Amino acid sequence: MAKAGPIVIVTLILTSCFCISFVLRTSTKLSALIYLQQNLNFNEVPVVKRLIVPEPSDDDDDIDEVQVQEYDVCIAGAGLSGAVIAERYASQLKQSVVIIEKRNHIGGNCYDYIDEETGIRVSQYGAHLFHTDNSRVWKYVQRFSDWTKYEHEVVGVVNGKHVPIPVNIETVNTLFELNITSTEEMDNWLSEEQVKYDHPPSNSEEMALSRVGRRLYELIFHPYTIKQWNKEPSELGPEVTARIPVRNNHDNRYFGDPFQALPTNGYTAIFDNLLCHPNIDVRLDTDYFKVRDTLRCKHTYFTGPIDTYFAHLGYKKLEYRSLDFERKIVRDTGARGTFQPKFVVNHPSAETDFTRIVEYKHLLNQTSDHTILFVERSKDGGEPYYPVPNEENKALYRKYQGLAAKEDNVTFVGRLANYKYFNMDQAIINALELFEKDNGVLPHEKDPIASCVSTTSP
Ligand code: UDP
Repeated sequence: MAKAGPIVIVTLILTSCFCISFVLRTSTKLSALIYLQQNLNFNEVPVVKRLIVPEPSDDDDDIDEVQVQEYDVCIAGAGLSGAVIAERYASQLKQSVVIIEKRNHIGGNCYDYIDEETGIRVSQYGAHLFHTDNSRVWKYVQRFSDWTKYEHEVVGVVNGKHVPIPVNIETVNTLFELNITSTEEMDNWLSEEQVKYDHPPSNSEEMALSRVGRRLYELIFHPYTIKQWNKEPSELGPEVTARIPVRNNHDNRYFGDPFQALPTNGYTAIFDNLLCHPNIDVRLDTDYFKVRDTLRCKHTYFTGPIDTYFAHLGYKKLEYRSLDFERKIVRDTGARGTFQPKFVVNHPSAETDFTRIVEYKHLLNQTSDHTILFVERSKDGGEPYYPVPNEENKALYRKYQGLAAKEDNVTFVGRLANYKYFNMDQAIINALELFEKDNGVLPHEKDPIASCVSTTSP
């Protein structure tokens, strides 16, 4: 033992030196990975294969010096459309795919994470409620997540009372002190209220008036829509207020779809599973326009705003509406205590400057000593959330669409590239069908690789 002492010490010193130099050499890479782990809460889900490549700097004109990389498919944007297209090419055709994402996370606007202060899972870009009547979409999403049944219900604060939205029998009884009890009575009441047109509703005002009449329009639709869009409902296409049905019964649900659920481990985990395939590289924090000259792609799918793709042409920009989320913590509520009666409470009245308050503690039986609220306001500028559907923007979009059609080997896909407000299920089915349009329907669908699927099968 006495003789072995110095040898052990020397060995330890040499090993330590080697370890320190190794750590120093790899520290950048490690810290990038740790950063990703922390930001994405990847502890719950398998880690996606990631490739972080430094962006060439602005004065880096000589692309010969930058390593050019070849992929079968390049995708700009790691939101739903991009992730589904990537998953299809990798799992079904075994093609190589790179996703270029400007943000520091995957998942697009579906991205969610655990709030550190409260331990509650929250969505960074506003409430996302999955609902669909499309059984193909429902089957597809079950491969990448476990789902917990959840039927979304919303109430609105109207004349100081909480009433169900969409309008149903209870809404009308509460606001107008009536005692409607049957569908037939509600149909009669609605019929007397509704404004009749000799043409299909041509804007959002006509759409709402034809469904609920003037009194409910003034209480629920007119002020909310102005706050949300900074436009009169008559200036917006009918599809905006058509998103909200009117009910002639007691159904309190916001959506009527047969499949309504929340991903049990959150939305970000779905993206991790979608992008888990070894053929998919994901580059976060990377501006597609800065790196595209360093990529050789057989085909490109662009999921960003279509007008940014053609920005160099100097055309007028498309109009988008954005959102601002004011974060508020309400302390010491008790494990199950909440601030408001539902996950989402709408505030249609012109007396407040916000449109709704979202309280995530209502979802998935979450418990916390506190609760967290996001007070939602609309704004111009900032992240593009909502395409603004009026005639001027639709005409401008058609111009961009004409340009897009002339781009070789580039497909524009998703809400921002199509300048159309898609629900999540619409984004998924569009991506699935686009893949089939470009590649034909495959005779035998291959399963995603085992490590990338949810723990329980559909
Ligand atoms: N809307 C309204 N009052 C409400 C809820 C919705 O006037 O209480 C109108 C408003 O114009 C809104 C549209 O209906 O932009 C669509 O509502 P939805 O809840 O689908 O909006 P999102 O959740 O997509 O922001």
